[in-house]
Amino acid sequence: MKKSTIWILTIVMALTFAGLLYMQFMYMEQMIDMRAQHFREGAKRSLYSLTTALEQNETKKYLEEDMMIIEQSIFDPAPGSVNMSTQEIQPYTLKSNKGNDLSDKITDYQESLKEQYLYQKGLLNEVIINILNQSSNRPITERADSAIVKSYLKTELENNGISIPFEYGIVDRKGHVVFKTEGFDENAPEREVVTQTLFPNDPEVRRHNIRVYFPDLGKMLFSSIKFMIPAFVFTLILLIIFVLTIILAFRQKKLSEMKNDFINNMTHEFKTPISTISLAAQMLSDDSVRKSPTMLQHVSTVINDETKRLRFQVEKVLQMSMFDRQKATLKLQDIDANAAIENIVNTFKIKVEKYGGKIDSRLDAEDPIVNVDEMHFTNVIFNLLDNAVKYRKDDVPLELIVTTKNINDKKIEITIQDNGIGMKEEDVKKIFEKFYRVSTGNRHDVKGFGLGLAYVQKMVTELKGHIRAESKLGKGSKFIITLPIIND
Ligand code: ADP
Repeated sequence: MKKSTIWILTIVMALTFAGLLYMQFMYMEQMIDMRAQHFREGAKRSLYSLTTALEQNETKKYLEEDMMIIEQSIFDPAPGSVNMSTQEIQPYTLKSNKGNDLSDKITDYQESLKEQYLYQKGLLNEVIINILNQSSNRPITERADSAIVKSYLKTELENNGISIPFEYGIVDRKGHVVFKTEGFDENAPEREVVTQTLFPNDPEVRRHNIRVYFPDLGKMLFSSIKFMIPAFVFTLILLIIFVLTIILAFRQKKLSEMKNDFINNMTHEFKTPISTISLAAQMLSDDSVRKSPTMLQHVSTVINDETKRLRFQVEKVLQMSMFDRQKATLKLQDIDANAAIENIVNTFKIKVEKYGGKIDSRLDAEDPIVNVDEMHFTNVIFNLLDNAVKYRKDDVPLELIVTTKNINDKKIEITIQDNGIGMKEEDVKKIFEKFYRVSTGNRHDVKGFGLGLAYVQKMVTELKGHIRAESKLGKGSKFIITLPIIND
């Protein structure tokens, strides 16, 4: 798959996921809004019924009281009070009265009804004015008795499908709490409180509000969207899997690119010695060459060198193929690290000096015995020294320092330091990965497979040690190996 295709897929999928998550959020938000609105409507309806019932109760009570007073005044009229005998307010009864004709009787009856109506209207007006004046003067806690309000509110809320606990408070026009139930929170957030005016027909200055607070409203609203949570979690899981898949796709892509580079490099590395050897073979078939011992010597040296080079490359590839097999079979033995390194350094000196450089060794470890496979141990040190030569600066003579020291009574530290081209910090983190090659390190004259350090790390780990690198671009690099030592 092309890199651009992976990118397009990533962008499309990312947009789809963002859209999906956004829609789920919106849906949840809307559900909560709708539930909250529905709840408020129910609560408002209940409160309205409560205030109407309170008003009706109060009116009924006053009506009964006033009617009693009026009835008394009718049966026992005080001077100056409404004056009408029982006889007068009694409904007109048709008596058989000889001498009056029917039309007179009807007129009298109508007159009597009219008077009765006017009288009762006057009475009612008087009662209503009384109610209006007297009732709003009474303390609100008497008018809205807490027990009645609580039980009435409970019933009304339940009728409207609201069964969560509530607390309420009665506040005056200025917002001072006149009465409150135990759990009422004056500072509760507005969205958890529903307010309604009690006795809305009172004069404005004496008006009170009832504020009902629902402490569990948030929980109730949340529980209404609980069923959406699994869907949300599944989307998140999908998103995580998608991100992982994309990362894997990119890694895979990079790995396949590295493998391609590896094959290209390998072909190059093999092609040169093969063509040199084939040229040498052609020369050998020439009589003049065969007859000259110096030429023969020269051709045999070339063949020897090139075969060595070829063997070295094959060895590297073989080292690498070992990775894919399971555990390497190591022939472990106790060796003196100082002595082994000294040997390698001596062999390597010629190569370093050939490039005008020098190699120093400071092998100070007092307990240098390590339990390793000698061949692999030599390869490890050799690979690191070889890299130092490969990635040297062209204009500065190479300076290589190899040291050993004990860092505690259990470990030995081996360092190989150069003054070569160095690496960037982000490259240092990756150089131990298979096939990884630093692009700037990919000098036209330095070919490699990006396998050397991967092999080194694998071996050091197999030998229960640890390797790390420190490097500064343009300054040089230092490879530090720690290995367990064998104490006597
Ligand atoms: P190769 O040398 O075959 O490319 P290695 O695994 O040995 O592969 O090294 C990986 C990369 O690390 C190299 O391509 C090079 O860029 C960088 N590197 C290794 N050793 C050094 C060093 N001593 N100085 C600078 N860069 C180095």
